[in-house]
Amino acid sequence: MPIPLPPRTFICSHCHWQRTCIFTSDALQLGVDWFSHCPSCQRTKLQTRPASRAEIMRERLRQFLS
Ligand SMILES: [Zn+2]
Repeated sequence: MPIPLPPRTFICSHCHWQRTCIFTSDALQLGVDWFSHCPSCQRTKLQTRPASRAEIMRERLRQFLS
């Protein structure tokens, strides 16, 4: 059984777009689970860091409500 990656937060330093990704499998879908560019301003230089507990909670809630 593959071990999912730890949740990560993607941040665009240009337009302040931010998204936390919680990986449920090792099969990543680009644009859904992983971002190579900002969907808002199309910048390719995204910052990424391990998601904080609050960000993980917020993302879980977002997925639950959608
Ligand atoms: Zn952006």
